[in-house]
Amino acid sequence: MDILIVDDSAVMRAMVLKSFRMTGLEIGDVFEAENGQQGLAQLSSHPVDLVVADINMPVMDGVEMIRRMKAADETASIPILVISTEGSETRWEQLEEMGAAFIQKPFSPEKIRDTIQKIMGRKS
Ligand SMILES: [Mg+2]
Repeated sequence: MDILIVDDSAVMRAMVLKSFRMTGLEIGDVFEAENGQQGLAQLSSHPVDLVVADINMPVMDGVEMIRRMKAADETASIPILVISTEGSETRWEQLEEMGAAFIQKPFSPEKIRDTIQKIMGRKS
């Protein structure tokens, strides 16, 4: 499974990757981006199997990135997992409507694994 991790914090990207490696899921190529704009640029040259995204980022936030992914044929069907400290029900519902799964920080490898299995099985 090739993944793209989009988060403005390098520490958080490293933590997400570490947690992914602890899930026992098979991880292939890993790409990283600091904001939504870089994330979309990465996706245009590296199609991945899963995008992991933060919400609050400068330049382009996660919600806008997901909106643009869903609007483009090439990226519309890529599963998306949002990992954020933001946990309002409104936000959660908005992401769900956009077809993204949501995990609130702090997260555990088990939580990531269970959620990934759910969304990869669903494969929208
Ligand atoms: Mg952030």
